[in-house]
Formats: sequence, C-alpha cells, structure tokens
Amino acid sequence: MKTLVLDEQQIQTAADILKNGGVVGIPTETVYGLAADALNGAAVAKIFQAKGRPMDNPLIVHIADFADIGRFRLVREVPESAKALAKAFWPGPLTMIMKRTDAVPPEVSAGLDTVAIRFPAHPVAQAIIRAADTPLAAPSANLSGSPSPTTARHVLNDMNGKIDAVLDGGASEVGVESTVITLAEGVPRVLRPGGVTVEMLREVLGAVEVDDAVLHQLREGAKAASPGMKYKHYAPRANVVLLKGSDEAYLNYVNAHAEEGVCALCCDEDLLSLSVKTVSLGRRGDYLTHARHLFDCLRKIDENGTIQTVYSRLPSTEGVGLAVYNRLIRAAGFEVIDLETI
Ligand code: AMP
Ligand code: MG
Repeated sequence: MKTLVLDEQQIQTAADILKNGGVVGIPTETVYGLAADALNGAAVAKIFQAKGRPMDNPLIVHIADFADIGRFRLVREVPESAKALAKAFWPGPLTMIMKRTDAVPPEVSAGLDTVAIRFPAHPVAQAIIRAADTPLAAPSANLSGSPSPTTARHVLNDMNGKIDAVLDGGASEVGVESTVITLAEGVPRVLRPGGVTVEMLREVLGAVEVDDAVLHQLREGAKAASPGMKYKHYAPRANVVLLKGSDEAYLNYVNAHAEEGVCALCCDEDLLSLSVKTVSLGRRGDYLTHARHLFDCLRKIDENGTIQTVYSRLPSTEGVGLAVYNRLIRAAGFEVIDLETI
C-alpha cells in the first residue's frame, strides 16, 4: 500500500464531525465507507438515510486495534478462530462476525444478536478511527443498490449534499468489499467473498464453509445469513448479462450482437477482437486487477449515458475471482447465458 501524507487538520475535522454524530465518507483499502460513531444509534441511523439502505441490513464496525474489541466491549467472547484470523489477516480486508453485547446499538446489528467487525489496513481509515476514539460503523458509501465507490469522486457523485464530508485517500487498492466470515456458530462460514480468499482462510482455520448465497440466488422465502446478499446489488443502470463459454464463443456472441447501446466488459486481450464499445477489467486471469477495477468499470459504463446492455464473461470462482463473480452475478440479477447450449 502506498504511503499517504496525512493532513492532521483534515483528520481532526472529520473526527470532530463524527464525535458530534455526523456522517463522513472515508477511504479504506476495500472500498470507500460511509462512517458514523458505531456506539451512537442516532448517528448510525443517518447512514441508512443517506444511502437509502434497508434497515434490516446490518453494518460493519471498524476498529483500529485488535484490543478495541475488548476496550469497547463489542463482543461477548472472542473465539480462538478470530484470534488466529486477526493474526494472519488484520489489518486487512476481512470482517469477522461474532456474538455481540448490548454496547452495540440495534441500528448497527439490524436486530441480529451478532456484530461484524473489521480492522482496516488503510492508514487514513486507521487515523480517523483513532482520532474519533470510537469504533466506526461504515457500509460502502454508495447509494443502496449502486456499484460501491472506490474513489472520493464516486462518493461525491452519490452522496453530495447528503453527508457532512468525504476524506480523499486515493483509489481503493482491493476494490471490492471485505470478505465476511461468521464465527458466531458452528463451522466458520464465508458469507461474502473478498480480498482474503476462501483458500487463504482454509490455510489458517482448516474447515471453512461457503454460504450458498455467495454463488446462488436465494430461494424464495429463504432467510439470508448475510442480509445484504438478498438484495439486487452492485448494479449499474445498464442491463448486465453474463456469458458462460470459451473466449472464442464470448467474442463471437458479442460481435454478433454489435448494436447501438451494447458494451463489452472484457479483458485487455479482447480489445482488438471486439466490434462494440469496450471497458476492460485488466489482463486475462489477473483477478486482483479485475477486482480493483470492477466498480469503476461499472460506473464508467453508466457515465457513458448511452449503454443499455453490458456483456461480460462469467468470472472464474478461483481466488479473488470468487469476489468478482459474486458481485457480477448480482449486478446481472443472476442472468447467465450458457453459450454451449445455444
Ligand atoms: P457493506 O458495509 O455495504 O459492505 O455491507 C456489509 C455486509 O455485511 C452486508 O452484506 C451485511 O449484510 C453484512 N453484515 C454486517 N453485519 C452482519 C451480521 N451481524 N451478520 C451477518 N451479516 C452481516
Ligand atoms: Mg455495500
């Protein structure tokens, strides 16, 4: 991660706003967050209002030291698995769910008996949490349903006039939201894939399950372990369609549909072979780069103003590819065309 020269005055101004119950956009290494004092229910309620977020979708609590969990009495007990994961991946893009105490306001946990906690790696995020001297509840700083913001400009585009301030800490390095794992019951289970991969988690914990909702649409009436996973999400205004098949079949299909308003969300290697507008995620197989660029690409497609249909390959589910898969399949409303069967 690059070193940022922190402007102490700006950090202090933002911390004062937070201490007084305000809402501030902050950079993190995953995506930009919309932060409020996690121990102040009225402040947290303003986040839901600014985003238009359903009240049953809980927020992640951000801390700046592992010891903050005990200092602010956030959880009933820290499981051994949480200590091992913190040692391996904190600070970083991993959120752990544990049983909460009453110190966590109901607005944060949306009525659940658990709380999601993360220690972000971004130096500005850490500085602001320390200066505010309180944990910060922060979901992604986008309007609910839109692609998450990975720059301060994205936050301004969605939130201008709705929040008190945004701190500019440069483009987010990871580009997709944190991995969410629940340690609250039974075998640890990934509820949302992110920068810390399932493979990495298994190296530390051994058995790790992946929740059904990561890859599949919830069945009608099924209860979401992670309420955020049940909503259409991460979607640009244009219609996203995922294509499953070989590289050649993808290029042929898109070129056969080269009409006005069509765009390909593709890889660098495809650019010369496509006869439609293109937005590239990066080199083929470079899933880290795809994750970093995904939301910016989706926002660029909307900013173009003329694009109605976006064709993308169905991403790989390996490594960080799983995080890209999980976001794109939701952006597509689970619509996948299998090119082998048409
Ligand atoms: P966001 O902050 O926008 O990245 O969204 C946070 C994600 O974490 C959402 O998908 C929430 O549903 C999920 N989440 C937060 N707290 C909990 C919790 N206590 N139990 C399950 N999922 C949670
Ligand atoms: Mg979000």
